[in-house]
Amino acid sequence: MPSQDPENAAGNALQPHPLQSRTIPRDGHTISRKDISPNALRVLYRLRDAGFAAYLVGGAVRDLLVGGSPKDFDVATDATPEQVKSLFRNCRLIGRRFRLAHVVYGREIIEVATFRANSDDGSGDRQLHEGGRLLRDNVYGTIEDDAVRRDFTANALYYAIEDFSVRDYCGGFEDVQNRVMKLIGDPETRYREDPVRMLRAVRLAAKLGFRIDDASAAPLPALAPLLREAAPARLFEECLKLFLSGHAAESFLGLERHGLLDALLPETAAALKANRSGALRNMVLEGLRGTDARVAADEPVSPAFLFAVLLWPAYCRALIALQAQGVHPAEAQRRAADRVTVHQLEVIALPRRFSLPMQEIWLLQARFSQRKRVGRLLAHPRFRAAFDFLVLRQAASPDHAGEVAFWRDAQHDTSLAGAGGTGFDGDGDADPEGDDLLDGDADPDAAKGGRAPRRRRRRRRPGGGNDGGQSGAA
Ligand code: ATP
Ligand code: MG
Repeated sequence: MPSQDPENAAGNALQPHPLQSRTIPRDGHTISRKDISPNALRVLYRLRDAGFAAYLVGGAVRDLLVGGSPKDFDVATDATPEQVKSLFRNCRLIGRRFRLAHVVYGREIIEVATFRANSDDGSGDRQLHEGGRLLRDNVYGTIEDDAVRRDFTANALYYAIEDFSVRDYCGGFEDVQNRVMKLIGDPETRYREDPVRMLRAVRLAAKLGFRIDDASAAPLPALAPLLREAAPARLFEECLKLFLSGHAAESFLGLERHGLLDALLPETAAALKANRSGALRNMVLEGLRGTDARVAADEPVSPAFLFAVLLWPAYCRALIALQAQGVHPAEAQRRAADRVTVHQLEVIALPRRFSLPMQEIWLLQARFSQRKRVGRLLAHPRFRAAFDFLVLRQAASPDHAGEVAFWRDAQHDTSLAGAGGTGFDGDGDADPEGDDLLDGDADPDAAKGGRAPRRRRRRRRPGGGNDGGQSGAA
């Protein structure tokens, strides 16, 4: 049950803060036009020349103020989407719930949003779920309305093209100077409206090196279970931002610190608590640091490898439990992989094109210790990712040094590396454990009812190595 009446609570939370409104003139801030995308400037100028208000807004203003380089530039205006469209030939309108204009310049898209209000104007266009969650918000408003419906004060700053000033309606300018993420309005109400804001608090604090304001941090552990109400597809997208933007390790620590890990990755959180030595946690953190290093070096990172890291503790725990019940090792591995995936899907919609290679990375780990059918394993489309994963496990605990050395040498041994998947060991007979584990198309659904159908030959997907591959993570 909500602790307060959501309509009233939202109303209170969204009151503007007129006393905090201020304009920071050009010489009072560090934002320079040379750091703004030329296409964004083009959009701003054209809107202004047509007589509309035009501002750069949101993450771009925040990032520019802390000296970062924004990954996208959003514009806010008092022009309606239709008016925006009439100004730009390269513009398309998107969104049903709230119409937005996209002005398209090749690969760069400048998103132009009309000021919108969240407050209930009696038109019925604003609807709140009984738990206080925001369902629709379809009302245009003033710039002040637009500011207070945003999530954090640092995200509610507007750079005005007319005089190059920064407009601040919620105290965000000072909060950015003090490097603090602070929710606008009553934190509990704002988290109930949209629980994903809890993850955004952690992610943006990690990315920017900000702290989360005490009042905004306090409700997090208690409200964390609300994340289960968020759409799993949205949580998947948010996870990619949390963990594939170069601040994965910091984000993970933030999730732990604020009690959000249990809600987002419940089985991993439980496994980490049960693992007294801390080896699994070290392994996860090591993996996330490796991912951050790859992002920093502009190398590709894969969601399959990422989730293989994040859910490895859960997989290990499930595997141990099944083996304790006397399940045959190969069967236990398959079932553990399946179980962990199915349970995690209740929270995060991990697409199959990532969950399958993730499972393969896990299942191939057992093959490394066997050191059999070397050529076949080397030719497996997921070998490289699985080997990188082995290296990662070794970095967190020295047990696997022998295996790493063996498989590293094997890759350099041309007589083995070229052997391919037709059975280097030449015995021709299918190894019931090995073939199942190596099956590139192992189907978790099939595994639920027992063994997946066996194939004599593995089918290689075109470019199949890329989904799982994180080559070079070693
Ligand atoms: P990033 O650096 O990850 O892009 P961002 O703050 O720009 O961070 P976006 O998702 O691009 O994040 O959102 C743009 C802006 O829209 C935010 O700065 C914020 O003002 C507003 N916003 C985004 N998500 C929410 C939300 N869940 N609730 C309220 N306002 C939001
Ligand atoms: Mg953004």
